[in-house]
Amino acid sequence: MRLGSTLLRTGAAAVLLAAGVAVTADLLAGPDQAPPAPAASAAGTPPPSPDGIPLAAPNAAAVTVASAPNAWGGIRTGLESTLSDRVVHYDIDATLDPVKHTVTGREKLTWRNRSSVPVSSVYVHLYMNAFEGAGSTFFTEKRQRDTAFRSGVDIRSGEWGHIALRSVTQGNATVPWTFVHPDNGPATDHTVVRFDLPAAVAPGASTTFDIDFHTQLPRVMARTGYFGTFHLVGQWFPKIGVLELPGERGATAPRWNAHEMHLNSEFYADFGSFDVRLTAPRDYTIGATGELQGAPVEQHGMLTHRYVQGDVHDFAWTADKRSAKPMVETWTGPGSPNVTVTVLYPPEYAASAAPAMKAARDSLSYFSNTLGPYPYKTLTVVIPPHNAEEAGGMEYPTFFTAEGYAKVEPDLASQYLLDFVTIHEFGHGYFYGILANNEFEEPVLDEGLNEYWDLRMIRDRGQKIHAGTPFTRRLGITPAFDAFAAERMGTPRSDPADAPGQNAYDRLQDIGPVYSRTATLMRDLEARVGKEPMERAFKEYYRRWKFRHPSTADLRETLAEVTGQRAAVESVFARQVYAATKVDDRIADFSSREQLPLPGTRQAGSGWVEDKQADLDKRVEKAREAWSKANPKAKDGLGPYPFRTEVLLRRYGAAVPQTLVVKFADGSVETVRWDADERWHKFSWVKPARAVSAELDPQRLHYLDANKLDDSRTLKADASASRRWGMDASSFIEYLLSLIATV
Ligand SMILES: [Zn+2]
Repeated sequence: MRLGSTLLRTGAAAVLLAAGVAVTADLLAGPDQAPPAPAASAAGTPPPSPDGIPLAAPNAAAVTVASAPNAWGGIRTGLESTLSDRVVHYDIDATLDPVKHTVTGREKLTWRNRSSVPVSSVYVHLYMNAFEGAGSTFFTEKRQRDTAFRSGVDIRSGEWGHIALRSVTQGNATVPWTFVHPDNGPATDHTVVRFDLPAAVAPGASTTFDIDFHTQLPRVMARTGYFGTFHLVGQWFPKIGVLELPGERGATAPRWNAHEMHLNSEFYADFGSFDVRLTAPRDYTIGATGELQGAPVEQHGMLTHRYVQGDVHDFAWTADKRSAKPMVETWTGPGSPNVTVTVLYPPEYAASAAPAMKAARDSLSYFSNTLGPYPYKTLTVVIPPHNAEEAGGMEYPTFFTAEGYAKVEPDLASQYLLDFVTIHEFGHGYFYGILANNEFEEPVLDEGLNEYWDLRMIRDRGQKIHAGTPFTRRLGITPAFDAFAAERMGTPRSDPADAPGQNAYDRLQDIGPVYSRTATLMRDLEARVGKEPMERAFKEYYRRWKFRHPSTADLRETLAEVTGQRAAVESVFARQVYAATKVDDRIADFSSREQLPLPGTRQAGSGWVEDKQADLDKRVEKAREAWSKANPKAKDGLGPYPFRTEVLLRRYGAAVPQTLVVKFADGSVETVRWDADERWHKFSWVKPARAVSAELDPQRLHYLDANKLDDSRTLKADASASRRWGMDASSFIEYLLSLIATV
């Protein structure tokens, strides 16, 4: 998901939020709004399931223990009959009513019990209920934190959404269900439901549920909804939670992983296959996860489009009768099938279609080359229409939404944002999609690593962030920034409060730093261990863990092993992934003083003589004249007397490996390391020349450092350091970049 780019376009989110509509109780009522909640939902916690299998803790976050070698069925070699070890199969008939913006669905959900114990309850997500009313966990968090979701679009009267279960059966038996609150959210949240099974599922066996459901889409809001004839249908069907086994993501016994839909968290689900028949009026253009099977079938003026996809963990689709003629191209790369790339776009954003297609194709090439071949046959890019921007910037398997611009101008923000959001949402296809991280508990592995890999792509192809607009260009201002340098400006460096490894919803500084701090710390790690070893390690991480839901510990172990630099990797993970530790090294003092003869008395024979300052001054003057005659072309900073140079380093954060380079007037250079975990260190030299400059971190390893301006000093006026880190000096630029650094 992208976060902030809409802010750039729409202005201050706070203003929009302040203008948000007050929520009143009568909005919660009304026909077809409240799910047919069985009794226990209002009564609080239901009795425990007889199978005794617990749920993951509400505060679960980055895992520290590596997963077992056989986790999720072991490494996928590519020789198996399917890409993933499929756990679920969804067979869904869904009919869109584009006037009421509803989807009526009939779902056959087949689930396999991978564990060695019988399972008598399962947990199912009903995410659309996040939008049923202000009492959901999503809206409760939004209200209690007095914050906005992305651009601050709010739901108004008549625009709520929900999903109602109409019937659930297992075989011929009715399945009772109860709303549960795995994260201790309000009783009015209905985003997770527990099915108590008439027949327990034996170890290794599968069961099928027949589920009738009815989904009311909200006005476009947080990744889903309608605007006019446009529909983005995401998080729309009952989706089962994940039963994790011992050795998987830190579990020591079978454990259900299901979380309420939070304001700032995304998703986690089992791999499986989807066979979905989407029925909509014939004049609607459809796009969806997976491959279209044959021509649509017509009945009663409606067309049924069948989409099939294996080895994914979610399914989203779109329908719009205003769509322009789709742009379709083919891409292929070594190890990948022929990929049909489709861009769906509204007429007002026709100018965005070709740039989005190009960015999608470029991303297919970059991610395939650097991580592993793209394994699916389709990629569908949806550009939402004007006024439906909140549907933009969201990822689903083989399908994502980008952003539309009426005019895409080279070297201006519109072009960069369209490009970057497309790259970012595509990139999720690898991290969220194929590596399939738990985005509730370990967003660092998805938003974080994805942001890092996107910025690498931007950097490696020499692209700059362009922040100018047509207006600023008329003023002659077209700022362009290095992508990683800009990213560090968007992250809290002086007072980081939340570990990137913290879960997505329990954070003081919101979700943004998951993107920006992770990208920056990974960039710093790459600068330390080397670009090539880092890329090799990520390739191996992908090879080992694709289709397997790796944890943060699995990433750490792969990076440590493949780079061969375990100490560096473990220290970065301990301080900057599982914790957030300030880095702030400075040159606190820098001096270089000529060592002249000193006044005072000295013994001469049997008596004492005094060297008076006035005499010494004359002696010094003579010595300098003589030296100048003998060295007529000598530079400033050299002379008959040596110079004592001192550099005082101070450390206000975590110890990081530092290099200090001091340059002298005679062209000589002193380079020293400062790795010790100490609060200060003074380096000194006595040399024939005066020092000219001192610089910490000349290799630029530490973008996490709170302030780079205090990393270098010169003894003569010299603007090079402040030019290099000029962005640190400009709070205006910092503000601008903070808006775009977390897209
Ligand atoms: Zn994202």
